[in-house]
Amino acid sequence: MDGTLTDTFSGLGVDVHFVPTSCPVKEPAGVCGLDNSGNSCYLNAVLQCLCSTVPLVEYLLNQDTQVFDPSCRSKCRLGGVFVQLLKKMWMGGYSSCAPVEARSVLGSILPQFNNYSQQDAQELLLFLLNVLHDDLKKVTRRQMRSSTLQQRRKQGDKRSIAAAAWETTAVSQLFEGQMSFMTLCMHCDHQAHSSQTFTVLSLPIPTDTSKCTIEDCLSLFFQQTILTGGEQMLCSVCGLRRETTVFTCLDNPPEILTLHLKRWVEIPEQNSSYSLYAVVNHTGNLNMGHYTALCQITETQAQPLI
Ligand SMILES: [Zn+2]
Repeated sequence: MDGTLTDTFSGLGVDVHFVPTSCPVKEPAGVCGLDNSGNSCYLNAVLQCLCSTVPLVEYLLNQDTQVFDPSCRSKCRLGGVFVQLLKKMWMGGYSSCAPVEARSVLGSILPQFNNYSQQDAQELLLFLLNVLHDDLKKVTRRQMRSSTLQQRRKQGDKRSIAAAAWETTAVSQLFEGQMSFMTLCMHCDHQAHSSQTFTVLSLPIPTDTSKCTIEDCLSLFFQQTILTGGEQMLCSVCGLRRETTVFTCLDNPPEILTLHLKRWVEIPEQNSSYSLYAVVNHTGNLNMGHYTALCQITETQAQPLI
């Protein structure tokens, strides 16, 4: 993938070439800083990574009609302001802008973010993806109701329209994967299977080394574990809590894999199914610190909407 690694520090000053938003300048598409306003670096860093997610950007900006039209904005407010922000960052020619509306709408939907305190970026990312997914579902339902209504009118079918809804959106298609678990009772060998979708993998860090790679963390995550003591699982055959072996498998890897790490690890350069394009970094401690984003900018097929 062609691209330029660009530091996108969150408007803290020295590292950002600041130009007032009222003075558009020619910047490469997608290279746009986000002004910080009172501990909003966690939000800016996450927004920068999402705005560097080319398939998502292309989907949202390449629609025949606006995905979030004005009549829908009251119901899909976050999706609406996110698309507006994308347009500004990818088509506006600004070197920086302030995601004021995004912050305001986010705070009104999710009160825990309606303050000037530092928040957890990973938690915010999950909330943002969930809300965006829900907004896209509303749009899909509306489009589907409209097309179904037209179809039935043509067919002279006056029956009420079934309240069907598509549960899949661009967000779930891009970010969701599926894992499965097999548990084995170590007393009676009874096996049980389950599966779950995931958006973020929170990877453990090996404790026996000062340096590790992503593969080391993934191996640790997927290695079989034995639950003992207070972690024993209830076996449906034995009717008792037993020592249990758990096997974890990745059934369907997502197109975009989001990993949560508790400290820096080495990123492999070769033989990887994924290419790293965006990182949210946190420096500091649990109570205070600063978030920055490092994103790869690449050309998209996004076209301006009129
Ligand atoms: Zn058992």
